[in-house]
Amino acid sequence: MTSKRAAVLTGFNEPIEILDVPGSDLVPGAVLVDIEYGGVCGTDVHLHQGRLPVPTPLILGHEAVGRVAELGEGVTTDALGQTLAEGDTVTWASSIPCRTCYYCVIEKEFSLCEKRVVYGINQTVSSPPHLSGGWAEQIYLRPGSTIVRLPSGVSSLQAVSLGCAGPTVAHALLRIAPPRIGEFVVVQGSGPVGMAAAMYARLAGAGTVVMIGGPASRLALAEALGICDLTVDIDENPRAVDRLDEVLGHTPGRRGADLVIEAAGVPVAVAEGIDLCKRNGRYLVVGQYTDHGTTPINPHLITKKQLQVMGSWAFGAEDFIAYVQTLPSLVSRFNTVDLVSEYRLEEVNVALQDMRTGRAMKPVLVP
Ligand SMILES: [Zn+2]
Ligand SMILES: [Zn+2]
Repeated sequence: MTSKRAAVLTGFNEPIEILDVPGSDLVPGAVLVDIEYGGVCGTDVHLHQGRLPVPTPLILGHEAVGRVAELGEGVTTDALGQTLAEGDTVTWASSIPCRTCYYCVIEKEFSLCEKRVVYGINQTVSSPPHLSGGWAEQIYLRPGSTIVRLPSGVSSLQAVSLGCAGPTVAHALLRIAPPRIGEFVVVQGSGPVGMAAAMYARLAGAGTVVMIGGPASRLALAEALGICDLTVDIDENPRAVDRLDEVLGHTPGRRGADLVIEAAGVPVAVAEGIDLCKRNGRYLVVGQYTDHGTTPINPHLITKKQLQVMGSWAFGAEDFIAYVQTLPSLVSRFNTVDLVSEYRLEEVNVALQDMRTGRAMKPVLVP
């Protein structure tokens, strides 16, 4: 097998290196994919900073789209049973559940699997099949991967434009806490997860969608995309009490929101989210993916308001399939590629920096 170029994390806080990585022979059930786009995610920034325990050297990239280069023996269809052939454009779930642990077998919550293989996160480039991340010319998808052909009418760039925020929100809003027709929904946060949450709330038929976040350029983008009715800029309204007053003023009877979705990723947002909920409302915490520590909340309000407070962690294979199936509705209604900035693979360190500083909403690498 020929070697392929890949962006490799060799040491935390060190520049990512472009290295030649050896390929591996295909085993039955595996698939080789030539990467078209590899997304850069906030989690990659945290991985690069060493905030999560991952093995190095590591090819990063857990969200990607590409074309089938070679099918292993026995692979004839994708996860939906559609025929799969060389040259088909596909995307795939970043994780493979073990299907033997307690959470896989008993609870059937694959995102909670204790032994997941996760591309671009926990498979070092040192061990075969080496090409286990999306920031490379090619990826080796192991047997058991959830691979889905892109629906017709959905381009590769559209499919990568929401990155892992898309399936993460599909898990959160299609399964854990679905918005209902006509509801007043508040999204805290204007990063990719917040954007995706507002889009799904819209698709679900929410009556009003409010986004609280910043900077102003991101809120302007959200408005241009038509994913919210009202934005509240945290730079213009630095005090939580003022933001609460603003949002409550738009809810019927100043009662608060039916559903509040936390996609801010900062602990202090949680107390504000509880305040934003109406009594008998629902609060979904989906943005606290990295541990940023504790925060004061008033638990009395959870009882007094009779709140349903829920969490949602990552996504499993079935959520990923559900996400791909909603892509045609999403991209026909919202111009999701407006979120994307393209970079060559060699510009990976610039892309990572632009993600870290918020200069780019969704950097994608083009190998
Ligand atoms: Zn991600
Ligand atoms: Zn498992």
